Amino acid sequence: MSRYDTDFSKMDFATRAIKSGEGPDPVTRALNTPIYETTTYGYESTEEYDRMLAEGADWAPGVYIYSRTTNPTTVAMEKKVASLESAEDACICACGMAAVSNALFSTLNAGDHVVCSDDTFLCTSSMFADILPSKGIETSRVEILELENIEKAMRPNTKAVYLEVLSNPQLKLANIPAIAELAHAHGCKLIVDNTFLSPCVLRPLELGADIVVHSGTKYYVGHGDALCGIVAGRKEDIDRVRYYNDNLGTHISTFDAWLALRGTRTLALRVARQSENALALAKWFEARPEVDYVIYPGLESHKQHELATQLFHGGHFGGMLCVHLKGGYEEMAKFADSTTIPPIATSLGDVVTLMFPKKPYNNLIRLSVGCEDVNDLIADFEQAFNKMKE
Ligand SMILES: *Cc1c(COP(=O)(O)O)cnc(C)c1O
Repeated sequence: MSRYDTDFSKMDFATRAIKSGEGPDPVTRALNTPIYETTTYGYESTEEYDRMLAEGADWAPGVYIYSRTTNPTTVAMEKKVASLESAEDACICACGMAAVSNALFSTLNAGDHVVCSDDTFLCTSSMFADILPSKGIETSRVEILELENIEKAMRPNTKAVYLEVLSNPQLKLANIPAIAELAHAHGCKLIVDNTFLSPCVLRPLELGADIVVHSGTKYYVGHGDALCGIVAGRKEDIDRVRYYNDNLGTHISTFDAWLALRGTRTLALRVARQSENALALAKWFEARPEVDYVIYPGLESHKQHELATQLFHGGHFGGMLCVHLKGGYEEMAKFADSTTIPPIATSLGDVVTLMFPKKPYNNLIRLSVGCEDVNDLIADFEQAFNKMKE
């Protein structure tokens, strides 16, 4: 046995984020996983090719035939993800929406019904409002904080419940253990999008969810430089996800898979810092006279704060924070426009703090808190409040 065959599965999350899925390249001993920029792979003989094809039919590890199906750089990231999500297996895709689509298409067929949260990412909402119904899949959208809303929406043909663990932008925290129990009692799968928290804060598969998806573009990649989608769960479910990923052609580019690998190594470090900064900022904003209310699961004022302290790991509450100022659109815009550190931008999970003023959501300001020095952020927001009042 080689020293590089160490089993990291029992080690801490931070160690697994760095070590899992990676090791010296078997051919060159390159310590960092190389970018295998190749579409195809050469075989010795027809016999060997046929054998690989047979073995690769269910994407056996180490069987490479064509890079839409499998690629060594991509597989390294999938192994790392499976370890971090406490999953049997994981599939990575082109982007978060590819992950959402593959999770749903591999679970639902025409004639099935799915119950979905009423507070979801914009494109996910299009899936439930338009795309799935147009393919013969019935959808019901319900407020998922009340379990009885989910229960009432169940039909004999319901196959899945779909929700975002921490919703966008209202940061409602789903009670995963309770909803998983309810879904399973009705013979349904629970599929959850955990983009807003990352596995560093909460791991839905450990709490009873069947399939977890992420926009890996956000916290996993962490630097705003690559698109990535993640689906993790049981091997039999991920095999079906792979079938769709392969046949729909939603595979990730090798370079983006490599950037995702590199970003993920620092996931634990980044999320710890982002959580620490976000909690300090949440408390600071809550005490400001210009602020109407703050939404952050780490604050006692958050409706599911108790649940968050039960379910979240490491005393972290994540980096997503929403602030509602007194006044209206004008105050929000003046404040946002007066800041200097956070760009006004969509997306989240980056090392840089991102600010997204949301007019359609009652002028809520969504902050994805980054890894900057928190005193610099506070000083910037303070001078923005002063300018706002000028
Ligand atoms: C961004 C996002 C997605 C979509 O991810 P892409 O990588 O942009 O395709 C899905 N769900 C949530 C919660 C997101 O924030």
